[in-house]
Amino acid sequence: MLTIVPLAMAQLVTLFAVMQTVENDVENRARNSLAIGGNVIEEYLATRGRQLRASVEVLAADFGLKQAAATSDSITMRSVLDNHSLRVGADLALFLNLEGLAVAGTTNTTALSTSGYSRLIDTPGSSNSTQSTLVVGEDIYQTFAVPLNAPVQIGWVVLGFRVDDSVIESMSALTGLEVSVSTSSSPASRSVYTIENSGAEWLRLSVPFVGSVDNVSVILQRSMQEAMLPYVQARRGLIIFGVILLVFVAIAAAYVSGTIARPVRILTDAAGRMISGNYDNAVDVSSDDEFGNLAASFNAMRTAISDRAQRITHQALHDPVTDLPNRSNISRCLQTEIIRAKDSNTNVSVLSIRLQRMNSIASTLGYNASDEVITLAAKHMEANLSPGEILGHVGTYEFVLIIPECDQSNAVASAERIGSILGAGVTLGRINITLHPQIGIAGFPQHGDNAADLLRNASIARSEAETRQEHVVVYQQGRQEHYVRQLRIVNDLRGALQSDEIFINFQPKISLPDGEFCGAEALVRWNHPELGFLSPDDFIPAAEEAGTIVHLTRHVLARSIRYCREWQEQGITSRVSVNLSARDLQDEYLPYFVLQELKEQNVPAHRLTLEITENTVMENINHAISILECLRDIGVKISIDDFGTGHSSLAQLKNIPLHELKIDKSFIMNMLDDEQNAAIVLTTIQLAHHMGLHVVAEGVEDEDTLRRLSEAGCEQAQGYFLSKPLSSDEMLSWCRKHKPKNYRNRRLEKRAFAKKA
Ligand code: C2E
Ligand code: MG
Ligand code: MG
Repeated sequence: MLTIVPLAMAQLVTLFAVMQTVENDVENRARNSLAIGGNVIEEYLATRGRQLRASVEVLAADFGLKQAAATSDSITMRSVLDNHSLRVGADLALFLNLEGLAVAGTTNTTALSTSGYSRLIDTPGSSNSTQSTLVVGEDIYQTFAVPLNAPVQIGWVVLGFRVDDSVIESMSALTGLEVSVSTSSSPASRSVYTIENSGAEWLRLSVPFVGSVDNVSVILQRSMQEAMLPYVQARRGLIIFGVILLVFVAIAAAYVSGTIARPVRILTDAAGRMISGNYDNAVDVSSDDEFGNLAASFNAMRTAISDRAQRITHQALHDPVTDLPNRSNISRCLQTEIIRAKDSNTNVSVLSIRLQRMNSIASTLGYNASDEVITLAAKHMEANLSPGEILGHVGTYEFVLIIPECDQSNAVASAERIGSILGAGVTLGRINITLHPQIGIAGFPQHGDNAADLLRNASIARSEAETRQEHVVVYQQGRQEHYVRQLRIVNDLRGALQSDEIFINFQPKISLPDGEFCGAEALVRWNHPELGFLSPDDFIPAAEEAGTIVHLTRHVLARSIRYCREWQEQGITSRVSVNLSARDLQDEYLPYFVLQELKEQNVPAHRLTLEITENTVMENINHAISILECLRDIGVKISIDDFGTGHSSLAQLKNIPLHELKIDKSFIMNMLDDEQNAAIVLTTIQLAHHMGLHVVAEGVEDEDTLRRLSEAGCEQAQGYFLSKPLSSDEMLSWCRKHKPKNYRNRRLEKRAFAKKA
């Protein structure tokens, strides 16, 4: 259709243009033939005029006529005129007197009154030859009048030729046009014009007779219809040709649309389907031509795009390491399960599973190994999935398991099953790596009615499990508020560091056995304007999780070093201990910061002790060790805090650059009542000494414990018995009041030692 319409239009326009041109041409030709006919007629009339003149001049020279005229012999005149007109073939011969009145004439002159001929001569009295016409009844004469001189002019001789049918026929024959003679009231214009005659169109030209006073003219005309006759045939031919051409074009267009447009349409439709993301149907063009090749390439492209789209979709919904559904995919699956559970009035349980201590695997064995461990763990879990359960990998070390139609007690059982599967560990090469999963559980409908809430609550329960060092924890209502509070704390911490809300207390330490004040531990406090007084346990874990702990540590370090300098200025030479978090041991700029602060405050590096817990170091042991070595090289002392509560052994600590070991207060506080704790404390002291470490006991709440520790060789002690954490000023006055006291009976110890030996 698209092809045929413009072609038909073009053809019509061409046809119209050709016809118009031909029509114009025919008309021009007709006009030309009239104009030429007009010239021929003029020439014809002029020739007849010249003939007339010659004849009339001969007549005027006739002596007999002159004599008869001079003597007014009308009979003779008439005879001469008759004879002469007969001789020259004139139809009319006259003699007019000087006034123009007919004196004699050929027989047919009687029709006019004698005075009616005066028009044939120039003005009476003149002597000019005059050509004119004379209308007598139906007859028209072409006349010529010359003066008759004898020897003076005595009158006029006039000869006339009748313009009869034979003249008209010869004019018609000469011009090939229709010729007529007419008289009209107005003089004829010498140009071709068009008239309508009984519905037909005629071209007409009037050629006036020379000197005609009656406006006699020869009318030449041509029928346009007749002139157009050859053109009409040509036009019919053109139209027939046009119709045939159109039919041919239509057939050609049908053929083209069958062979070209159809495959193009099929390809266009297929491209449209692909644009809208539908890659299902292949293009069905099986011809052997270019379209067949194009369709084959198109199908290949469709398959490639479809594969790529599937790959991209898969990648967008799956974790690259384990190929398990990722967070957004799991969230969608969970939402679907919730809707299904709502419809069937059942439960859905969500398990948030996190593998602990994976950082140390990554730092010791590398990230590839850690990825392999994760993949193996995923495979173990996948292999043990029940029908309908969906496992997803939602964070580096985090998985989510969706268990449809599962209530809380079944969820706990499933979590324990997963715990024991993972707890069995995975084998990487020849190494068996123990996994430490912690699992949080949330369930629909009791803990939320949408995927986001359930996932968040399961994750909160899992964090709870981490904090409480339990394997499986079920979400409890209200824990969300706790996390909102934690979030608030994290948000406000940065601002608080700029204000006085965060301050430091110092807990004095004494050396044993002499009881001398030897240093203080910096313990941070936060007086939150709305949440009130916050202990480090309230905000340190949150700050660690959010990463803001690094700023807090730097703040405490800078302030503690400055206090140390102030104490020094007040005459109290003291060490200061600052606690570090795991994140701090990833901060490679920490040693430079410490060095700079010490220099700025002019505090010797050995006065600063940094306390780290076993777990802190173990998280990324290689990196931690390199940072601790830098600090040791600066001259800073390193103490292992809360010793005994972590998962390391003394042997594992031998690679860490340590100076001091701080036994956790949980062993110290009741060591006098608990033999086992006492044994742990005493053994630890001995082992630490073997490793060349000083021992500090924290949590000393009574004097007997102090003595016992002193007797066991513990070098320093800290605890409520000596002092609670104090402000800097309070600590200074405590120091001033403090009376050192010896807590060890050396003799007793020597005796005991001798007994043992
Ligand atoms: P820690 O380093 O083991 O600090 C000792 C904790 O035991 C302090 O609690 C202290 O007040 C408490 N304590 C001292 N003597 C006794 C005693 O005789 N009996 C009892 N029951 N407790 C005693 P605090 O100040 O609440 O600090 C708790 C923990 O917060 C600290 O344990 C430390 O791990 C962390 N922390 C405190 N300040 C900072 C800090 O600036 N940075 C970091 N990263 N952690 C800090
Ligand atoms: Mg400490
Ligand atoms: Mg401690």
